[in-house]
Amino acid sequence: MPAYVYDLSALDEHAASVRWALPDIELYYAVKANPDPELLRVLARHVDGFEVSSGGEHAHVAALFPGMPLALGGPGKTDAELRLPCHRLHVESPGELRRLLATGREADVLLRINPDLPVEGAALTMDGPFGMDEAGVEECLPLFTDQVRLRGLHAHLASGLDADRLLGLAERLLDTDHAEVNLGGGMAVDYAAPDERFDWAGYGAGLAKLRRAGQRVRVEPGRALTAYCGHYVTTVVDVKRVRGQAYAVLLGGTHHLRTPVTKGHDQPFTVLPTGGGPGVTDEPVTLVGQLCTPKDVFARNIVTSVRVGDTVVFAMAGAYAWNISHHDFLMHPHPAFHYV
Ligand SMILES: *Cc1c(COP(=O)(O)O)cnc(C)c1O
Repeated sequence: MPAYVYDLSALDEHAASVRWALPDIELYYAVKANPDPELLRVLARHVDGFEVSSGGEHAHVAALFPGMPLALGGPGKTDAELRLPCHRLHVESPGELRRLLATGREADVLLRINPDLPVEGAALTMDGPFGMDEAGVEECLPLFTDQVRLRGLHAHLASGLDADRLLGLAERLLDTDHAEVNLGGGMAVDYAAPDERFDWAGYGAGLAKLRRAGQRVRVEPGRALTAYCGHYVTTVVDVKRVRGQAYAVLLGGTHHLRTPVTKGHDQPFTVLPTGGGPGVTDEPVTLVGQLCTPKDVFARNIVTSVRVGDTVVFAMAGAYAWNISHHDFLMHPHPAFHYV
């Protein structure tokens, strides 16, 4: 049966090293990358708070960690969401700020900005509806009161950026009179290089140079914190050849691990020779799942040896993996979850 295996001690060590690399920078975890409570419990020992992007995430985290600082963001907040207690509220538009004022609550606000900055080398850029341009910010500024207070700016401009590129953006974003700046997440995770890590030390050192005296700086990574601690483990049920192409058919599929489909990459994996059934040796194999769709592909044409009954361990399955997958398509059983 397929299973997710989370290495909590690896996560603990990794989060500690990230925390250490960012002295005097507030570190929040973006819960949408993976809201698994066991992972959150480990991360809570290292982070200053959590970034939540819905009423559902807010309820989940507030129940697990009463009193932990929460930053509430996300587009299309309802009035009920705008009333949720939080340490910081990230406002996405002048209309949202007016609805926030109309609730009558107190709030400490960061304006989410969508500046016209060139973002190169990103896996995904957050242009389009997110945040506001300069005209939107200008419209918001006179609306603040003693009760709904402007604390600063929030930016989350792209995902998949290396430290140099993120520092290039930070240089522009920190060059402001605002006392507080949240630089967002988006630290690069390279699925083609499972042993590489984002240069947290270089990023921390760079931010220390760029920040203005007294400026409060916060980051909110998701993927780069939890991607590495998750593994999706499954079994080979069939090895076949169709018009010369070798396929290994695995139990489960991308309804459990959607990451390779959404990212369009080959999910890194290791084959453990536990089977001994019929198979192929040292040739390009495409690894597929049990779904009745040609999109159910984990990795294409990777040279490997694989036999029926072997165990396949997919690495880097700890972020945007199980929680973004279409679990119930075809009504196969859900995977098991193990924590080591
Ligand atoms: C998704 C998201 C993050 C986390 O992004 P990662 O690429 O997972 O680091 C941080 N902030 C906001 C506002 C987001 O939407």
